[in-house]
Amino acid sequence: MTATVFPSVPTTPSAPREYRLLIDGRWVEGSSGVLERSSPAHGVVVSRYSTAGSVDVRAAVAAARRAFDHGPWPRLTGGERARLLAAVADRIEARADELAYVETLESGKPIAQARAEMGWAADLWRYASALARTLHGDSYNTIGEAVLGVVVREPVGVVSIITPWNFPFLIVGQKLPFALAAGCTAVVKPSEMTSGTTLILGEILMDAGLPPGVVNIVVGRGPEVGAPMVSDPEVDMLSFTGSTRVGQAAMAAAAATMKKVSFELGGKNPQLVFADADLDAAADAVVFGMQFNAGECCNSGSRLLVHRAIADDFVAEVVARSQRVPMGDPLDPTTKIGAIITPEHLGRIEGYVAGALQGGADVRLGGGRVANTPGLFMEPTVLTGVQPGMAVAREEIFGPVLSVLTFDDADAAIRLANDTPFGLSAAVWSRDIDTCLAAGQRLRAGTVWFNTFMDGCPELPFGGVKQSGLGRELGRAAVEEFTETKTLHMRRGPRTAWWADRRAV
Ligand code: NAD
Repeated sequence: MTATVFPSVPTTPSAPREYRLLIDGRWVEGSSGVLERSSPAHGVVVSRYSTAGSVDVRAAVAAARRAFDHGPWPRLTGGERARLLAAVADRIEARADELAYVETLESGKPIAQARAEMGWAADLWRYASALARTLHGDSYNTIGEAVLGVVVREPVGVVSIITPWNFPFLIVGQKLPFALAAGCTAVVKPSEMTSGTTLILGEILMDAGLPPGVVNIVVGRGPEVGAPMVSDPEVDMLSFTGSTRVGQAAMAAAAATMKKVSFELGGKNPQLVFADADLDAAADAVVFGMQFNAGECCNSGSRLLVHRAIADDFVAEVVARSQRVPMGDPLDPTTKIGAIITPEHLGRIEGYVAGALQGGADVRLGGGRVANTPGLFMEPTVLTGVQPGMAVAREEIFGPVLSVLTFDDADAAIRLANDTPFGLSAAVWSRDIDTCLAAGQRLRAGTVWFNTFMDGCPELPFGGVKQSGLGRELGRAAVEEFTETKTLHMRRGPRTAWWADRRAV
């Protein structure tokens, strides 16, 4: 994590920041009134978003369509698009403190972490800028003496980008710059709870000189604003990050118009700790995995699978360390665990814990909300005696709750690890290369870490298997995801007519 540059603890703003929609290069009022967002850590209103209705979504899609069909963006060279994407990265860095402040107020995440995320986001825009110049097709001159095949890559068209609230600025950065690098145009809908930084990104894009209509940003709730972005026949592709439940509905809706789709969905990610592991490093990673972003993380290491021989001592170490991590005001740069996104979600997390206790699990740490604060804070919670069939072992809780299960051998560990509908990520802790490799080959997950957790970088593809998603983001192919191939099949003469007889019948 990069060092924070905040000199002291900032305070909440004296008045909420006001935002409008970005449609066709202009900031406009939406037709559905105003949504307010309160800081989940402080209980004060920090943002007021003018909200889109279906008429605004139609206007945004129409603007993106015009910009794609008739505007300059898809027709620029890769080098020209690369320059603009790099200029966006520079501007993100220049406004990183402001972006981090807004992200923290709206999401409740610690400001030092938010500040680091802005650096990672700028890096994503830079990586997309580099890839913009490398996009290319293919050619075949071995398919016949007089035949040449050329496969060109074309931008897929208008992309609907729908993002969740947990990493708003990072996740739009995993999608939008790569869509733009391909030459696509977009309509973007951030979560209605954390739209601020995406709207500031709109200012940055306009400031960097993006032509009108190439990126349009609409704010509002999923059913009113997200759903029409999925069903609109003028949209060619859906790039969605969010829950598996909403992703499934969006995939069904997108089928009606046969859109290209990509989905980054939920996870129930195991960390497998074998007896021969570096237990100090593993314990640190297990605590980090459950507490990072208050557990509101698709990659959250929400399941600890630990060898029975070391389980008691290891869990004791995890519990002891968990208590040493500072939780509190996310505006304080020393805070590492911030607030939970909404009161409803906090209640859901507590409900999972209560269900586990009824089923016979034990609370080794935490178990409920932090009392006597206007903010929404959940105690880091460690549950032992968890059975594989329990909801806390199978479902995404999205809070700082660790479910501990034990295994006796590697086969049992893999069986347990794969025993959920999800397949986003997993980690293996062992000093034995055979143990690591065998687990790496048998775990059903999009990413497997060995003796580390939640590392990531733009060069490595990211995504899930099973109900964790469809398609991959990042990596060398990140821009290709936003393209279609077109085959140009050429034959030179002389030509022989061979199908229908030339003579009249
Ligand atoms: P969510 O599914 O409730 O919402 C995601 C987005 O979809 C929001 O913008 C929401 O307004 C919109 N939406 C809701 N209903 C819709 C509809 N009917 N049609 C179209 N759009 C609609 O998810 P959330 O609560 O915002 O985020 C948390 C979830 O996101 C977790 O499940 C988490 O695992 C997942 N997530 C996954 C990744 C990943 O990369 N795999 C990353 C971050 C978050």
